[in-house]
Amino acid sequence: MPELPEVETYRRFLDDLILHQSITAVEVRDAHVLTTDEDTLRRYLVGRQVTATRRLGKNCFLELDNDTVLALHFGMTGDVGAYRDDPDAPRFTRVALHLADGMRIAFVDPRKFGRIRLAGSVAEYQKLKKLGPDALDITWEQLQAALGKKKTLLKPALLDQRITAGLGNWIVDEVLFQAKINPERLCNTLTEKEFKALHAAIQLVLKTAIQHEATYRHFPASFLIHAREWDDSATPGTDKHRFCPRHPRTEIEKKYVGGRATYYCPKCQPVPVTVHEKPDASETS
Ligand SMILES: [Zn+2]
Repeated sequence: MPELPEVETYRRFLDDLILHQSITAVEVRDAHVLTTDEDTLRRYLVGRQVTATRRLGKNCFLELDNDTVLALHFGMTGDVGAYRDDPDAPRFTRVALHLADGMRIAFVDPRKFGRIRLAGSVAEYQKLKKLGPDALDITWEQLQAALGKKKTLLKPALLDQRITAGLGNWIVDEVLFQAKINPERLCNTLTEKEFKALHAAIQLVLKTAIQHEATYRHFPASFLIHAREWDDSATPGTDKHRFCPRHPRTEIEKKYVGGRATYYCPKCQPVPVTVHEKPDASETS
């Protein structure tokens, strides 16, 4: 699933190709991915130029010179591509924007959970989708204000796009590992120091992932992600990737938190001490 680092990579790709180019045509190959109807899209896009590209969480935006933005959401399998001649269109191209210089920008999506829509502005889209501040922009004070009083588990709260936009499942695990906080801590038990560590870890994980263009096998060996065994690990030929980078004899554990597969180090991220509730009358009588 395209997460924030992939979407940032797409945005940079689009920025290089599309900025200050006129859109000459909108080619719709499969209207399934359109939330704005085809005719309206053409009316707002054809003859216009893209003045800026933006990203908020897992959404990418093309800002147009008519106070409109085209919002791209990539769903499960969305991607972008570029080509010049029709036969070279990437497989599963659903929509293509034709540009004045002959380049065509493809919105590619095999499973068609992605969505394209027009909005008045990024802020309007953010309000419509109830998205919090972007995970790269949120400050530790904002994190503490949003979470500090919640009596819910930390991991699902960090996945909630209304708190901060752009943190997905593996990213939250990596962030909590780097910050040395157990995913099942209750939000309201975090100290100020831990909120600062959480914020620093969000920056570290997202910036590292963007720097490596979301190619997981290039991530540093100090990252937990290798334990997920998504690709050839950073430790080829050994099972070192299954152990904590900080504790070579402690195996990374997997459990389900809020219904999501969760990886953590039982040593770095100790399980929270259970607060025993007062036994009710029926048990004591
Ligand atoms: Zn550890």
